[in-house]
Amino acid sequence: VALSQATLSELKGVDVPRYDRAGLTPGIVHIGLGNFHRAHQAWYLHRLMQEGLCHDWAIIGAGVRAGDAAQRERLLAQDCLTTLIELDPSGRSAEICGAMIDFLPVEPDNAALIARMAEPDVRIVSLTVTEGGYFIDPATGGFDAQHADIVHDAANPDAPRTAFGAMIAALARRRAAGHGAFTCQSCDNLQGNGAVLRQTIISLAALSDPELAAWIEAEASFPNSMVDCIVPATGPAEIALARGFGIDDAAPVTHENFRQWVIEDDFCAGRPDWDRVGATFSDRVHDFEMMKIRILNGGHQVIAGAGDLLGLETIAQTMAHDGIRGLLRKVVLDEIAPHVDPVPGMTPEAYLDLIERRFGNPEIRDTTRRVAFDGSSRQPGFIAPSIRNGLAAETPVEGLALVSALWARYCAGTREDGSVIEANDPNWELLNGTAKAAQKTPSSWLAMRQFYGDLADHARFADAFVHWLTAIYDDGVEATIAAYLKTA
Ligand code: NAD
Repeated sequence: VALSQATLSELKGVDVPRYDRAGLTPGIVHIGLGNFHRAHQAWYLHRLMQEGLCHDWAIIGAGVRAGDAAQRERLLAQDCLTTLIELDPSGRSAEICGAMIDFLPVEPDNAALIARMAEPDVRIVSLTVTEGGYFIDPATGGFDAQHADIVHDAANPDAPRTAFGAMIAALARRRAAGHGAFTCQSCDNLQGNGAVLRQTIISLAALSDPELAAWIEAEASFPNSMVDCIVPATGPAEIALARGFGIDDAAPVTHENFRQWVIEDDFCAGRPDWDRVGATFSDRVHDFEMMKIRILNGGHQVIAGAGDLLGLETIAQTMAHDGIRGLLRKVVLDEIAPHVDPVPGMTPEAYLDLIERRFGNPEIRDTTRRVAFDGSSRQPGFIAPSIRNGLAAETPVEGLALVSALWARYCAGTREDGSVIEANDPNWELLNGTAKAAQKTPSSWLAMRQFYGDLADHARFADAFVHWLTAIYDDGVEATIAAYLKTA
């Protein structure tokens, strides 16, 4: 059955909206209508709507990139309905999410988007425009005022290219009309995503209208949030999965059987009660992020390179490997968890149990290669902070040294069976050259201070690293992991 409002009643064995979608009115404009939003924020809202709540908070979709026009066509053709397929290890299930009711035209000057966000019924503008979409200068972490799109938007505030320029233009109209501001809510996977969004919007506004920037700073709000749910991209396999449920959906979304959303309760114009359906309002978003980054993202770095070196293609396969599963557990319990504070309802140890289950889900085809990509950002971001904490607190760092050695072995560019690992990092050339040299002189790896800072100067860590990298080249990856697991 071709998915549409009219055909919902024909679907069998699929959960469909029980609310009257024609009676929904908008409250949210969402920019960046990719897969993640539809499996996460839109799903939370849909659950509320199923309970008869929040019918005045429906979502209007939007995009600021030419590529979003095709998504608009697809979704409008199916009345903005999305098939969500849950990849549960005990079986798949499907439901139709109906929280979105329209998709604005995608235009170079964003005129329709600005006009809609200026309407007072819009109380939240949310975004998923990727981690890289916020115009952050990687060197300073500050706003990148030199970017061509920013230069353009500063000079043309009434015809902006970026999502942020469009939001500023809409806020200017609301201010002139005497309407209040809306909440600006980032749902991207960035630490302190609300603070980052605030910096981008205020900095861009200040380039053309400092007074407006001050008004936005005073009137709008930018809640930080931690978002979590593994949502793969959609291709032919996902479209076929939807067909398996009898649904012809041009853009279905698959997702894991886990979701988390921890949000600062800072909404200047009201909000849905997302906590009634599983989200958490908390002023400790930072602590939740810390647990996630150190154990989930750090855990991914512990296992992905090792898995790829052994020719294991997916994260689920690495978790089925006794040695790698043991490595994850021991490194997290002995060396990462001691530096992670518990959060309400979750200890770091319980979080590890959860992560093991999620990583082990065989329904999700998350590749070791994807997760091992960009170690030059992810090792410094997700692993090195635990090493520093361990050195300062005099807790063990041997396992984290082994993780570094596995990364150095990975970047040498061959698997244990001799097959080639293709370039898998923006800095691959440097990493590959250094990794090859490190086979003879292991210490040269830690001398890359742009990634390791002063960690090479800490003998306890540096000696362990040299020991493990030598062992990996002498005895192989599996035997070295086994040797580590035998240590006290
Ligand atoms: P996606 O590729 O399906 O969609 C990305 C959307 O962002 C598209 O609409 C695209 O047009 C838009 N976009 C990309 N770059 C942009 C830019 N510079 N300016 C404006 N719009 C831009 O990706 P997705 O799975 O929806 O993920 C989007 C984001 O959601 C991620 O980058 C991440 O921050 C967050 N997230 C995703 C997952 C996941 O598992 N997919 C999990 C947690 C968080």
